Order: sequence, then structure tokens, then C-alpha cells
Amino acid sequence: MDFEHSPRTHELLTRLSAFQEQEIDPREQAHLHDLQARADPWILSPLIEELKTKAKAEGLWNLFLPDERYGAGLSNVEYAPLAERMGRSLITAEVCNCNAPDTGNMEVLWHFGSEEQKERWLQPLLDGSIRSAFCMTEPEVASSDATNMQATATLDGDEVVLNGHKWWSTGVGHPNRKVLIFMGLTDPDADRYHQHSMVLVPLAEPGVKIERMLQTMGFIDAPAGHGEVSFTDVRLPASAIIGGPGEAFAIAQARLGPGRIHHCMRLIGAAELALELACRRATERTAFGKPLANLGGNRERIADARIAIDQARLHVLHAAWLVDKQAPAALGAVSQIKVAVPNMTQAVVDMAIQLHGGAGLSNDMPLAGAWTAARALRIADGPDEVHRGVIARLELARYGKGKWSS
Ligand SMILES: Cc1cc2nc3c(=O)[nH]c(=O)nc-3n(C[C@H](O)[C@H](O)[C@H](O)COP(=O)(O)OP(=O)(O)OC[C@H]3O[C@@H](n4cnc5c(N)ncnc54)[C@H](O)[C@@H]3O)c2cc1C
Repeated sequence: MDFEHSPRTHELLTRLSAFQEQEIDPREQAHLHDLQARADPWILSPLIEELKTKAKAEGLWNLFLPDERYGAGLSNVEYAPLAERMGRSLITAEVCNCNAPDTGNMEVLWHFGSEEQKERWLQPLLDGSIRSAFCMTEPEVASSDATNMQATATLDGDEVVLNGHKWWSTGVGHPNRKVLIFMGLTDPDADRYHQHSMVLVPLAEPGVKIERMLQTMGFIDAPAGHGEVSFTDVRLPASAIIGGPGEAFAIAQARLGPGRIHHCMRLIGAAELALELACRRATERTAFGKPLANLGGNRERIADARIAIDQARLHVLHAAWLVDKQAPAALGAVSQIKVAVPNMTQAVVDMAIQLHGGAGLSNDMPLAGAWTAARALRIADGPDEVHRGVIARLELARYGKGKWSS
């Protein structure tokens, strides 16, 4: 394993860092405050559109996609440091067309889409002219078990008819959202992992209704947001099914591996920013006659944060390396980082909030947002417990002679 940055990563990271420092950092906080103060925050931001044009012109675009025809052609190990750099900001991923859930949806279309689906949806997503959502989770059932999904995608001749109710659909608030991927039950008699299908649904289709937008611990995450969406007799040609009927689980597996690496590396970027802010605060502010750094156990806390971040980064790079090699161990490694990194980031950001006192909890600092993002990722994309279950099953299977494989 060699985790030295490749020449391509090195070059892109230098340019991405300069772009963030010059174009994004000076404007991001004002932009977020402006959105928050608006009566209608679900707007197309002129600033984001301007920055997107600049990022595209500078080649800082679609960096996540490993295919050179469509994206930067980087491996997961090569892209990971770029995702980390983006994670220091809440808007850079969108500015570089590298934001969830669009990245996962583009990967699905790239891997499994028909030529017609690629032309209609993948190309405008790659261009950044439209946005998308992914609708799997349902309020009525425990959605951490994806075989529970009740919403239906019923075949009717050469059409597919959708009915059901989804929520936590990230991205449906965005004014440019045009398409979503719907996961629905097609054949309840098939084996557990071949019952569901993924269907491409234009948001303007009759029967699709955004019922409301949700808040994540008070954050609305505008303009993308997270919505509750109902589907009532939405009728589409069967050619809207991705891959084929019953293929949803195979597609979901492919979608989630790289996506989890991206999430984890962005969280490491957020943890790095939190530690930097904590150190600045600890050295610049004085209480009881001493810099905060020299009070109580603050030095130990700072040291522990550095250890935890560096461990987590190596852990994620190792998982990315296994995914790149398509090694069987990649499955467990991705679940390990999906547990380790959000917990690490939550703890590091919490330490930084504490060192900032009241300021840490205010919206003047990016810390409350970073803490909430880390907390949410202990549930989104599979709760900690589900991933721990995968890790334990793989570990026990080494000893139990087949008895522990489920
Ligand atoms: C910010 C955010 C964005 C999201 N974006 C999307 C999106 O774009 N699209 C989408 O479809 N979904 C999205 N989700 C939904 C997310 O993926 C689900 O919330 C998650 O999969 C858990 O499903 P659930 O909420 O139904 O919890 P449940 O399945 O009801 O689980 C609740 C709790 O039960 C416990 N539990 C579950 N299984 C086990 C187990 N095996 N062992 C022990 N305990 C267990 C855990 O404590 C778990 O947290 C998002 C969620 C958030 C918070």
C-alpha cells in the first residue's frame, strides 16, 4: 500500500485548495447566512452558479467519477484527498459537481443506465444543469433493512406504475431537481434480494408530490434539503427501470461503496477544520490568566483529536484501496469506516464546540453544522448498528464454519 498522492491528485489538490481559499472561503459564510435569512431558501443561488462555471473552467469538475470519458478518471484512493479538502466547506462539493446524492445517482447511471437513460439524465447531471434525488427510505417501515420497502413499482404491460411514500429524500428542495431514483417492490414472490426495482422518475410527472421539507436538528440544508414525497399512480414506460426489474439490490451495493468513502473523507475534512479552529481559539483566548490551551485537559483533548483524525484517514484510505482493488475485504472495510469516521468527527467537533464556548454553538461558526452532519451520518446510509452487524458477521464467520454467515 502506497498512500503518497499520485501526481494527478497532487496537482488537483493544489488547484482545488487555491480555488477554495480564493473563491469559496471568503464568501461561504455570508452565502449560508443569506440563505438562512430568506423566507424562501429554495432558490438557485447566483453565487453557486457563478462558482460552478469557474470550477468547470478550471477542470475541478466531476472529480469523483473514475471514468475519464465522463469525469476525472481517478481511483478512490486518488479522489479521497480531494473529497477531504471539499469537506472543509458546505458548498464546495456542489460547486465541483461532486455532491451527494447526485454523485451516487450518476454512478448508478454510468454503471447500469441504458444509452437512452444516460443521454436523458446522466449527461445533464454531469453538466450540472439538473439535480437529482434518491428515494428509498419510507416513514412507515424500518428502512435500515432495505428489504422492508413497501412502496410498489408494479409492471403493467410495457409500463411500470409507482405508489408509495418516501422521506428523507435529499435534494428534492433544489429548484433544479428534475429526476429521482425510486426504489419499489416489484415482485414479492421473488427471493428477498430480487423483489425491488429502481426506477427513474421525472419530478414533474403527475402523481409525484413533495409533501413537505424536513429539518435535520433544525438545519434545513437549503437549497437541496430533505423532503417527504408521495407517489400516487405514477405511470412510466418500463424503460424507466434501471438495469431491469428486481435489480435494485445489486445496484444499491454498487452505489454505496464509493459513496461511503466520499462521505467519510468529507467528514475528515470537517474534523480537520474543527481541530484547526479549536487550536486557534485555544491559543488566542485567555481565561483565568492562561491561554485556553493551558487549562484543564485541553492539550490532551487536542492531541487525542489529532490521533483520531490521522487514524481515521488511514482507515479510509485503506478501505478505498481495497475498493479500488475489488478485494473481498472491501465490504467489511467500508462498514468499518462508516462507523468509525462519523463517530470520530462528532467527537472532534464536539471538543471544538466546547473550546469555543457559546460561539461554538452559534451559527457564526461552522461547528454546529459539522456536528449535525456527523451525527446524521451515524444514521443515514445505514445506522452504526447495521454496519457493526456486518463487521461482526464477517469476523465471526472466520471461526464458525458457516454457522455465522447471516
Ligand atoms: C440527513 C439525512 C439524509 C438522508 N438522505 C437520504 C436519501 O437521500 N435517500 C434515502 O432514501 N434516505 C435518506 N436518509 C434516510 C436514512 O438512510 C435512513 O434514516 C436510515 O437508513 C435508517 O432508516 P430508518 O430511519 O427507517 O431507521 P430504522 O430502520 O427504523 O432504525 C432505527 C434504529 O434502529 C436500530 N437498528 C436498526 N437496525 C439494527 C440492527 N441490525 N441492530 C441493532 N440496532 C438496529 C438503530 O439504532 C437505528 O438507528 C437520510 C437520512 C438523514 C438523517
